[in-house]
Amino acid sequence: MSAACILVVDDNPTNLKLVSDILQFEGYQILKASDAESARQMVHDTPPDLILMDIALPGMDGLTLTRLLKADETTRHIVIVALTAFAMKTDDARAREAGCDGYITKPIDTRTLPGTVAGYLRGIRGSS
Ligand SMILES: [Mg+2]
Repeated sequence: MSAACILVVDDNPTNLKLVSDILQFEGYQILKASDAESARQMVHDTPPDLILMDIALPGMDGLTLTRLLKADETTRHIVIVALTAFAMKTDDARAREAGCDGYITKPIDTRTLPGTVAGYLRGIRGSS
């Protein structure tokens, strides 16, 4: 089985590098974007298996991009996990409403991230 492809979207360079490095070390193929527009382009060029989507982005926000991807027949199967800085119930609800399959609260827990991501990926592969 080839390595799953994960697109990490975050406008914070430190977060983007941290999350990407951890997942790259796990053996995943990693794509990176620091804004929603370039993420959207990347999804169409190289569809990933999973997207870690920062919510607060300059310009188009992560929930808007999630809605667009989930409304599109060709991209709606991609698992989208929101990265949210707010551990609030309302944010969880907003993320689900936009079509996110789950969410991870920032700051990222570097010890649990690989297991959490692997769990979401198992969900896809197990159901196909
Ligand atoms: Mg951000």
